[in-house]
Amino acid sequence: MQAAAPRGPARAGVLGASASGGSGNVPADDRVLLDALPIAAAVVGLTPGGILKLLDHNPRFDEVMVATGDAGIMTGDFRSCTHLQIARLMLGFLKDFEAPDELDFCDGEGVSARHFRIKLSPLKPCERYGPRCLVSLVDRTVEVQSEKTLRAEMLRDSLTGLPNRLGFTDTIEKAGEAGGASVPRAIEHAVLVVDMLRFSRINESMGSLAGDELLITFARRLMSTLRSGDVLARTGGNEFGILVGIRRGIDDALAAAERIQQVLTAPFRLSELEIKVECAIGVALMQPRQDSEELFRNAQFAVKQAKQVGGPQVYEPSEASAARRRFSIETELRRALDRDELSLFYQPLIDLKSGKVAGFEALARWTHQDRGEISPTEFIPVAEESGLILSLGRWAMDKAAQTLADWDRQAAPLTGGKPLPFYVGVNLSAIQVARDDIAGMVAAALRDHGLNGARLTLELTESSIVQDPARATRVFEALKALDATVAMDDFGTGYSSLAYLQRLPIDVLKIDRSFVSGMMGDSDSVAIVRAVLSLAEALGMSTTAEGIETVELATTLAALGCASGQGYYFAKPLEATAAFDYWKSRLN
Ligand code: C2E
Ligand code: MG
Ligand code: MG
Repeated sequence: MQAAAPRGPARAGVLGASASGGSGNVPADDRVLLDALPIAAAVVGLTPGGILKLLDHNPRFDEVMVATGDAGIMTGDFRSCTHLQIARLMLGFLKDFEAPDELDFCDGEGVSARHFRIKLSPLKPCERYGPRCLVSLVDRTVEVQSEKTLRAEMLRDSLTGLPNRLGFTDTIEKAGEAGGASVPRAIEHAVLVVDMLRFSRINESMGSLAGDELLITFARRLMSTLRSGDVLARTGGNEFGILVGIRRGIDDALAAAERIQQVLTAPFRLSELEIKVECAIGVALMQPRQDSEELFRNAQFAVKQAKQVGGPQVYEPSEASAARRRFSIETELRRALDRDELSLFYQPLIDLKSGKVAGFEALARWTHQDRGEISPTEFIPVAEESGLILSLGRWAMDKAAQTLADWDRQAAPLTGGKPLPFYVGVNLSAIQVARDDIAGMVAAALRDHGLNGARLTLELTESSIVQDPARATRVFEALKALDATVAMDDFGTGYSSLAYLQRLPIDVLKIDRSFVSGMMGDSDSVAIVRAVLSLAEALGMSTTAEGIETVELATTLAALGCASGQGYYFAKPLEATAAFDYWKSRLN
């Protein structure tokens, strides 16, 4: 707190006269207390008329007041006290001891400034004066100065001498405040985050000294692109931040990015080597009243995208909120899996000729307690990205096998103990194919629930072949060895070559819903469906159509020779009991 005030004339005579202290107004104990205190102190009281009075003080108090030139207090004339805030503090405290009792004030400016902390503590009232208090003054000048030096050190990067991350956000904050905190103004600043690419490789191969040298040279080049008022900082190992002033909005920020790219075109000399250094640049525009940390994080987010895209990227809030949602879904999905909060629904697959249930596809469902139902089209990709698909996939496999075994037991009175005449289809992600022991997992589920492999269809997508065809071949063959059926899901949407289709042991092609639902209005879709059906026939495979929503589609597909189908026309994915009831309802 700064209570800077013009210095009043030091009235040495008056001060000198009162330096001895002891006006006789106060009890002798106070005198003893004041003399004993090693710091400047005084006793102040309030007259019955409510006037502030200096009752006594020790010689150190004199010294400080002489030094600060505040004769007002010394003469007891608080109206002429140069640090009026002090007088107000004392008055307020004497009227109510619960009021603030501390104040930091500064006397003088720049290097000659002295810093004090004034503290009040209540004293027993005496006869002539009601409320009284002890005023103590501590000279904190040395402490404040070392704090300042330390803070300056904390805000600086020792290698480049530039502001560090803390110093940078401090600078952004000040720029934001200067822009006017109360009135929303046009955007005047942008933050660029520049990430030096492949720095760790240079550091590792050439040593950290060479790495340091490169960082310093890199910083110098960045410095050469700055305009007056711009600030460069080293915000991380190989990450730099630049605060740029902008007049023409985003164009100015992009021009700054362009200047940076320009200065990096010339190679860097490191000992005997010439190195080409590239960088990724993220830009975020400062919004009125925006938190500096948030602005910086936005620019960092844009850098991440710049790395993927290849050119400078400007932060877009919608993309960031999608990324945040993905991130929170990942965390919550992990928890949901741990707590077994996912469920498996079953959608009937109908034999289009007989109208009977040929099987059920097991589909994961997640009802989040706050967000409600979250679609697998949202959480499966998150599970794939995070690797959670491995445990999700194992859970789904086991659950589906368990349900099928349960159904078998429930239907025993009807079937005479024989297995039910249908299968359950389980989806397998390409990530599982690439990273898990799928055949082992399927075999374990079959064994644990006493099922035969022929009761399972495993739905794989074309992407599981594309990534590593050799591995996919081994997985498909291992599944066939278990007697399971292998279906190619979403067929037509991936990029698998016909050669693989022929070589791999695939039993069923599932025609993607996008082609099926297009059939009624679009002749291309009909042509594609026809082509898939004849391809399947030529390769000796069966077919399933996804997304049959109308009776017309069901009859057309049946007429075209498609073996089975699933879709809302027959039933939506159902809970296990409802699915089992559905099978029973279709028996006749
Ligand atoms: P998918 O394997 O192609 O499953 C078919 C999707 O089409 C399901 O969506 C199903 O509800 C939907 N569907 C079926 N008939 C109709 C219809 O007539 N109209 C419309 N509009 N949609 C229909 P869902 O359940 O949302 O699942 C989406 C995808 O998520 C699945 O596509 C599958 O790739 C994936 N998925 C779901 N559960 C699992 C799982 O346990 N493991 C793996 N790896 N993936 C899963
Ligand atoms: Mg499927
Ligand atoms: Mg599908």
